[in-house]
Amino acid sequence: VNRSDVHYFGAGPAPLPTHVLEEAAKVLLNFKDKGIGICEISHRSPEANAILADTKQALATLLDIPDDYDILFLQSGGSGEFSAVVYNLVSIWVEKKRAQIAQEVGDDNDEVLKRLRKAVDEELKLDYLVTGSWSLKASQEAARLVGAKHVNVAVDARKSNDGRFGTIPDESTWTLTSREKGGPAFVYFCDNETVDGVEFPQFPKSLVGEDAPWVCADMSSNFISRKVDVRKYAVIFGGAQKNIGNTGIAIVILRKSLLPPVAQYASPDLLRQLNLPVGPIVLDYPTIAKNNSLYNTLPIFDVWVAGQVMASLVDSYGAKRIGGQEEISNDKARLIYDTLDKYPDVYRVVPDKSVRSRMNICFRVHGGDADKEKQFLADAERRGLTGLKGHRSVGGIRASNYNAVSLDGASKLVTFLNDYARGA
Ligand code: PLP
Repeated sequence: VNRSDVHYFGAGPAPLPTHVLEEAAKVLLNFKDKGIGICEISHRSPEANAILADTKQALATLLDIPDDYDILFLQSGGSGEFSAVVYNLVSIWVEKKRAQIAQEVGDDNDEVLKRLRKAVDEELKLDYLVTGSWSLKASQEAARLVGAKHVNVAVDARKSNDGRFGTIPDESTWTLTSREKGGPAFVYFCDNETVDGVEFPQFPKSLVGEDAPWVCADMSSNFISRKVDVRKYAVIFGGAQKNIGNTGIAIVILRKSLLPPVAQYASPDLLRQLNLPVGPIVLDYPTIAKNNSLYNTLPIFDVWVAGQVMASLVDSYGAKRIGGQEEISNDKARLIYDTLDKYPDVYRVVPDKSVRSRMNICFRVHGGDADKEKQFLADAERRGLTGLKGHRSVGGIRASNYNAVSLDGASKLVTFLNDYARGA
């Protein structure tokens, strides 16, 4: 089977632009005519540094990332960032609290520690908006690290939807930690839920404002697919293996005021005294930032791939920047959803219309009849439309519509959806 005969709709790892892979094959063997491949050069070489700088620049250009934000690359995967945001932001919260108490109490360290223990016990809250499987996992990781009582699930979308994900309940029902009581250490949400096909249509209104809490967002599956007002976030992160590149790195966009000297982090000793976790050094944002993401060996090839993908978007869309990709992503998603909606007797889109993901289009065929869905997948595969099986936890069909899925690919899927529904 030739690559050009197939349109792959897998949810991640996901397709990459063919021209990037062709170039990758060359640089794996011989990078910049050095007689040695890109995976073999030092991550501290001038060539590696240039890759890092170019990739950062391309991302900053695409998303209009302001100067007061840093871009980090880590090997953590998306899941490692579930833990990293907790370690880092809890540490900042604790140190801020300690400094406040020390100011009130003075040098009496025992008293500071006593009051700090009480403050942690009563006030430390991490707010999670649980709108799908990935934000649920992130909230569970937070509870595992700091204890469930510190995790405030401000919304659990299953509760108002028969125990299933597929909606984002109205913001008036969210129970965010009150800002009057100091607010949460951060609010966390997953911008696009890959398994459940739920995407935030826009940035939540309740999280906007001067004194808004720090917002952390997982954009693993809709990174660089639409405009983002970066300033609204403290941390944006995502694994590369969907819209950006191959598996192996996570990208973090971080407000610089979360780093020293503006933000101070609690010492490991203090965290231990408070029974709070001390994070691994490879997830420590100040360490990674200080070392330009080269604290330890960074997989430079992965960064190169991401850089190539981003540079081609910069070239393609010019002044429109990521807005150009957004238009295409929206058009492709609209084509597919409009077709599904034409045949309500055959297809049912899983999530509510108001929160349908442009990236992961989840639907059932003939009410979720297992044999019919199996047949649907087999018929699609015969036409070279692959990777359409839904996540094992929810079943059904999922067409992932990432950036590397072409308009031609989306159109071929639409033709198949029409033909299947008409019994052609
Ligand atoms: N967050 C989202 C939205 C995802 O879709 C995924 C993986 O599919 C992850 C996090 C986890 O990423 P990783 O497998 O890189 O840990």
